[in-house]
Amino acid sequence: MSKKIGFLGLGHMGGPMAANLIRAGHDVLAFDPVPAAREQAREDGATIVDTAAAAAIDRDVVITMLPNGKLVLDVYAELLPAAAPETLFIDCSTIDVADAKAAAELAVGAGHRPLDAPVSGGVAGAAAGTLTFMVGGGEAEFADALDVLEVMGGKVVHCGGAGVGQAAKICNNMLLGVSMVALSEALVLGEKLGLSHQSFFDVVSTASGQSWALTSYCPVPGPVPTSPANNDYQPGFATALMNKDLGLAANALRDNGVDGRFGLLAAETYSRFNQTDAARDFSAIVTDIRNRSDQEGA
Ligand code: NAD
Repeated sequence: MSKKIGFLGLGHMGGPMAANLIRAGHDVLAFDPVPAAREQAREDGATIVDTAAAAAIDRDVVITMLPNGKLVLDVYAELLPAAAPETLFIDCSTIDVADAKAAAELAVGAGHRPLDAPVSGGVAGAAAGTLTFMVGGGEAEFADALDVLEVMGGKVVHCGGAGVGQAAKICNNMLLGVSMVALSEALVLGEKLGLSHQSFFDVVSTASGQSWALTSYCPVPGPVPTSPANNDYQPGFATALMNKDLGLAANALRDNGVDGRFGLLAAETYSRFNQTDAARDFSAIVTDIRNRSDQEGA
């Protein structure tokens, strides 16, 4: 059934997500402050409005896909009073768990029905409609959102109550960041010890050190031809985004008293790398480890 949707944030992810909703027959009112993003959405078939609030008026569902939690809370302050009672608010941005809970509380306080629904799958997944959605919020809200989320995603998982979708996202990405650093250290150690990348791959990909970082996203060229290492570390998943997600994970570790030393170290490692290499794929961390090892070993 066609739904009336408001969509805010028509960037790398939001633009193609909104386009998929339109292709599936939904009626999309859209807003973004950037003219080029608005123009692309207009070409894709969205009706463009002039303010954030206007995108929330008389909608069944309002979707936000914004850069950070402060913006989500600021935009919610404009959207919530403009929306009809019991509008379903779905925030797909990756934001702090605490901000996601605050946004949900604001929405409930204003008489609406919130979900946090961050995604993985990147720009390619957004364009293909194959994102994975990790959803936090009530059962009834989840059931109502499912048809819309399934247009944009290949897999939709209800993870728990408010903020728990964001929890799943940062736990996964913290694990990915830690495993990419650990894998890169092992690869550079192997290089120093005379182990070729291919031999490393042939052994570790079927041994107990196996990981997604190695078998799908190998950080050195050769063993996995589709990985960004074979394309001069063009993202993929940019270091800036990994740095952001590890910062959110570090906040959550501290806020919840978790002894997460490796997560904090990965956050520190990517924060430093991000100062020089924000636009490169996050797997390029192996080049940083190699360069620093050469300097230290010299
Ligand atoms: P982006 O910067 O390309 O897009 C964000 C858009 O929000 C921009 O077009 C910006 O103009 C718009 N915006 C800012 N203020 C606004 C407002 N008040 N009202 C409406 N729109 C506003 O970022 P992106 O890559 O599309 O990422 C969006 C979110 O998705 C982020 O939280 C990011 O962490 C997450 N994410 C990104 C990826 C990825 O691969 N790019 C993957 C998974 C999750």
